[in-house]
Amino acid sequence: MEIDTINLNPEPVPNVLCNAEKSENSEFSPVSSSSGSDQISEADIESSDHDSNNIEDVRDNFKTELARWAVIHNITFMAVDELLKLCRFHLPHLQLPNSSKTLLKTPKAYAIANISGGQYFHFGLELQLLHLLSSKRCTSNVLEVMLGIDGLPISKSSKKQFWPILGICKVLDERPFIIGLYFSLVSKPTSVDQFLQPLVQEFGKLKEMGLWHEHVRFDVKIKCVIADAPARNYIKCCVAFNGYSGCDRCVQKGDWSGRVIFTDQTASLRTDVDFINQSDKSHHVGITPLLLLDIGLVSDVILDYMHLICLGVVKKFLKKGPGRRDHFLIERVDNSLFACQID
Ligand SMILES: [Zn+2]
Repeated sequence: MEIDTINLNPEPVPNVLCNAEKSENSEFSPVSSSSGSDQISEADIESSDHDSNNIEDVRDNFKTELARWAVIHNITFMAVDELLKLCRFHLPHLQLPNSSKTLLKTPKAYAIANISGGQYFHFGLELQLLHLLSSKRCTSNVLEVMLGIDGLPISKSSKKQFWPILGICKVLDERPFIIGLYFSLVSKPTSVDQFLQPLVQEFGKLKEMGLWHEHVRFDVKIKCVIADAPARNYIKCCVAFNGYSGCDRCVQKGDWSGRVIFTDQTASLRTDVDFINQSDKSHHVGITPLLLLDIGLVSDVILDYMHLICLGVVKKFLKKGPGRRDHFLIERVDNSLFACQID
């Protein structure tokens, strides 16, 4: 995604219908009709029965609709600037601003918080969902959000890293949106409480008040949290995944065999209640803020296909398996995978 695209604007544009949608005799008809009775002109506005307040309202509504159009269709700042320049020249009475940032009410300053280990900016779950609701039709009153949390190294030559908190709400959009972003020159967030506090606090408010859009209340729920093994341990405040009590799913203690291995396939399974009560003390190193998200800390912090299979055993097999130096075998695997590829 381009950094300068408009959908990074954390402030959604209110869904206000312009007069063109309210009345067939609207003063705002398409800009392309440069002549004829539909044209917007100073004379039309001056001769209108509206008083000056109404003219102001019409202008404001047009600005709002234009801003909404730019956000919904992901128009770049540069393109909106060009459009504003044209409008200001040909339709000066609309009194449009010079800059897309003024039109879109882009904040001039962001509230970037200094937290333990680095800096954090909270884009906001509520704002992102409202942004989606303003452009998508939603048939459900329940918005289930899947969260994704992971570290993201920026370069190989430094320890600079992002830790984004992403969300997906499938009833609105298949694409992920950003909820919060941590940046550090040196390390992951050293306080998981500070890192997750804005999200947890905001969810608490949404749970109590609901999310309101055009007089409709939506209930927001966290469906699951997706993270790789190190990130799961970190956000759940558990011991490392390769520790003796590191298994997410069962209570067995691992054995040392050059590394910790888990061989017992009949061990008792962990439950969400056991996790809350910290029944297995050796599995926990603290109290996770995720408890406030109303999710099962065992069942809803899921083990996903991408991390376990694609980036897990398959990667390990290809890199460290018996065939790592067998170029002939690697070529056969490559060919088999290409043969499976769907066009
Ligand atoms: Zn296990």
